[in-house]
Amino acid sequence: MAKIKRKQKPPAGITDCRRFKKYLRLDFDRHCAYCHQAEDLHLTHHYFGVEHFKPRSKFPKLIAQYNNLFYCCNRCNSIKGEFWPSRGDIAAGRRLLDPCRDDYTEHLGVNPETGTIVPKTDAGKFFAGHLYLDREELVVWRARKAPLLERVRTLEELLRQLEADAVTPADVKVVETLQDTLDEFEAALADYGDFWV
Ligand SMILES: [Zn+2]
Repeated sequence: MAKIKRKQKPPAGITDCRRFKKYLRLDFDRHCAYCHQAEDLHLTHHYFGVEHFKPRSKFPKLIAQYNNLFYCCNRCNSIKGEFWPSRGDIAAGRRLLDPCRDDYTEHLGVNPETGTIVPKTDAGKFFAGHLYLDREELVVWRARKAPLLERVRTLEELLRQLEADAVTPADVKVVETLQDTLDEFEAALADYGDFWV
């Protein structure tokens, strides 16, 4: 996954962090910075909020610093809480990943059959452990990706064959219905972004 590039320019002087949400929502493309679930899966942005990467209690000067704020689902936000690794942890490479600085795919892989995380680095292992990235709902969601991708490929191939031979109105109807199904599957696939590859 390419790192997230912040493009929004919130006006200066904002002190209420909740006012950053609409800018973060765009910069993070409506995905949680940690688990990468899309808003679409929860059908509402109310399940998402503003997360302080470096926690408020330990870094009070960064409370309203836009670069320290992430778009985050409420579950990850409450799991992460005020946690920050110790200096010893950081010195040993045990740190939390920042999607604006780290390419997650360099640190984390996924077993496509089980949906569980396969850490590639110490930082990835530490991060996934502290964020509980193998919690049940995430494992189930990630395990659905491979079969979904398989169905999309099968449907694309089927449509290619049928479109070439579609003659009667009934044929055309079949093609249209399959295309609608393919569109739905592709939309579901897009929810994964390019994060969990
Ligand atoms: Zn999350």
